[in-house]
Amino acid sequence: MFKENAEIAMRDEELDKIKACIHCGICLSACPTYLTTGNEGNSPRGRLYLIKDLIQGEVPELDATGQEYLDNCLSCMACETVCPSGVEYIQLLDYARHEKQESSYSKGFWGLVRKFSFAFLLDQRYLLNLGRIGLKVLNIFYKLFPFLPKLSKVQPSREISYTKLEVNKLYPSAETILDVPDSERTVLFNLGCVMDTLYNSVHHDTIKVLNAAGYHVYVPASGCCGALASHSGEFKIGEKQTEKFIQAQCDALNKLYETEQALGDFSNPIVFNSAGCGAHVKDKVYLESLVVKDIAELIDPDNWLAPVSLEAFKAKLVSLKGIDENAEIEDCAQSIKAVYHPACHLYHAQGLTTQYQSLLALIPNLELIPFLEAEVCCGSAGFYNLIKSQLAEPIGERKAANIKKAGVDLVITANPGCMSQIEAHLSGGQDNENAEIGVQKQSHKVIHPMSLLAQCLRT
Ligand code: SF4
Ligand code: SF4
Repeated sequence: MFKENAEIAMRDEELDKIKACIHCGICLSACPTYLTTGNEGNSPRGRLYLIKDLIQGEVPELDATGQEYLDNCLSCMACETVCPSGVEYIQLLDYARHEKQESSYSKGFWGLVRKFSFAFLLDQRYLLNLGRIGLKVLNIFYKLFPFLPKLSKVQPSREISYTKLEVNKLYPSAETILDVPDSERTVLFNLGCVMDTLYNSVHHDTIKVLNAAGYHVYVPASGCCGALASHSGEFKIGEKQTEKFIQAQCDALNKLYETEQALGDFSNPIVFNSAGCGAHVKDKVYLESLVVKDIAELIDPDNWLAPVSLEAFKAKLVSLKGIDENAEIEDCAQSIKAVYHPACHLYHAQGLTTQYQSLLALIPNLELIPFLEAEVCCGSAGFYNLIKSQLAEPIGERKAANIKKAGVDLVITANPGCMSQIEAHLSGGQDNENAEIGVQKQSHKVIHPMSLLAQCLRT
């Protein structure tokens, strides 16, 4: 009886949230699935109608088309940013996915493979790196035999790009502390899963920038934060991973207290360089003693929190010589034009709409060029581009076309999924053998803001 009442109360709460929608349609032009398909069912407003029918019990279960519409949503939150009525769309979508309708790709054999991968692989950094080799083999296989049908629903439509694997760069390993002399501030920096596997060099660059801003960096023994599983509808697996991840942060802080490296005044934030992880953990952390920040919040020139002064940090930066990271750094007057693609989990989920732009403006000769539909999702969205490649493809193509119209060679974005998706669509696939950032075949280069800043730091 109690459970039934609780369910009714929950359902009424969700229905109230749906009533906030005034059907104005403003969200349509922000929605990547609507922009790409022109189909109202693939719009936020259309999905709200579906969710309402589900919650009200007007349909016991969605038909295949309705299910497809819900599954097609990237959870990018762009609709929430533009909605004048403040409709809490993502909560409604999660409720529908969690309580009412299991995703079609969670079912059957591949659903089991998916669950297993989320539950056991994401915490295993060495197994994940072995997975890269598996992807490489799969890519070669399909290059040799392009006529063969796809193996599964989780096969990427394009090659996934990543930085070249350098075994010695697999470190910093967990439980490392990277010191800067005379600093009193230590931040917790987690390696995570996808960034660590595909773009490990970004971690090194992030630590270099944090050190330059005066922070000690402590790398806790933690695994995946649970964002990928949760964003992909595997909520229970995601919850467990998040719980474990938060416990690891508490353990790390306790260790720092024991060694007197924590100040006990919330000066030891958990810092992220990956948009999806930061947004997810911010959303899940309720302990006052845990402060979660994206790195751009710690070194935001408009709200500078770092131990080294902003002036001193700026003095460490020199101009970019070119877009090649291997170029020698020297002061250079030539302006380098770039676009900044704001990852949805920074812009829409965390509301970080200006921080990266302000930070990048510290690079003396970097000029950011505005581009069309900059705030629209690139189609990466966790594993979306693997499991929904038929829609992720045109969304990625649209993003690449808009970037090309801006006429720049350099694309800056702060999320591994966006980096990989945009790179794949700008290049039309690449030979990953030598795919180290800066040593690529295509004329475009996609880079994380921390890597660009690290390139400009005087050593
Ligand atoms: S913008 Fe908001 S109120 Fe308008 S249709 Fe979209 S969800 Fe509804
Ligand atoms: S979350 Fe993104 S993809 Fe989903 S309805 Fe909103 S704008 Fe469209």
